[in-house]
Amino acid sequence: MFQTSVLASGSKGNSILIRSRNTALILDAGISLKRVWAALEDLNVPRHTIKAVIVSHEHSDHTRSAGAMARSLKIPLYISPDTYDYCAHRLGKVESWLRYFESGIDFLVGDILVRPFRSSHDAIDSNNFCFEHDERRLGVAIDLGYPTKLTIHKLSEAHALILESNHDHDMLMEGPYEWNLKMRVKSEHGHLSNDEAVNLVSQVLHPGLRNLVLAHLSETNNLPDLAFKVMDAYLQSIENEIKLHVASQNIHTGLIDI
Ligand SMILES: [Zn+2]
Ligand SMILES: [Zn+2]
Repeated sequence: MFQTSVLASGSKGNSILIRSRNTALILDAGISLKRVWAALEDLNVPRHTIKAVIVSHEHSDHTRSAGAMARSLKIPLYISPDTYDYCAHRLGKVESWLRYFESGIDFLVGDILVRPFRSSHDAIDSNNFCFEHDERRLGVAIDLGYPTKLTIHKLSEAHALILESNHDHDMLMEGPYEWNLKMRVKSEHGHLSNDEAVNLVSQVLHPGLRNLVLAHLSETNNLPDLAFKVMDAYLQSIENEIKLHVASQNIHTGLIDI
């Protein structure tokens, strides 16, 4: 068994569960602990099976309750040294739970192999990830301005993908954001648009990819139906039958087989 659920995703908070039969872990804890516990209960995943919490980068929509989760469950908090320096104040007292990881250096949490790799995003040391267990691979890339060659290389051959589909280009440009913020979101260190997500998928598609979850949707500059429609139109045009999901800010997805 190897499964994932996006517990929440969007600019107000992100958290993802990944679990094998013996191990579960949380990638990012940008929502309240109360919400994480409620989602886990709903999914029938006992809290005590969570063996680690991993932080991808310092933005508060990924770190909010990471420290509290490590303390509450007495589990390791994996973070890069530079990211820790930038958000230590937000994590609280975590020294006894701290474990450092580095981009490009794989590590194990129980029987799940965690493979962090750098993402192009405006954080001090932003990482995307692959998770592997029993020859199955999940790719997670939810904060990136554009896919580098490394991104494409790492996400290829994934059996499930959780991928950013942040904004619709026209909604962003015609929307209420200040000009500087529009430029930041659009930039190579910002977030992927719906069309850019399609372009990324076109580069990593292979017959083994079964599930695709669109995530980190902007509540201001995107609509779940629109993100779905854009990706679905592409998948239909190439007669691909990947199961398409859209993650939400307010409700977790079901458990998705990897
Ligand atoms: Zn971010
Ligand atoms: Zn984010």
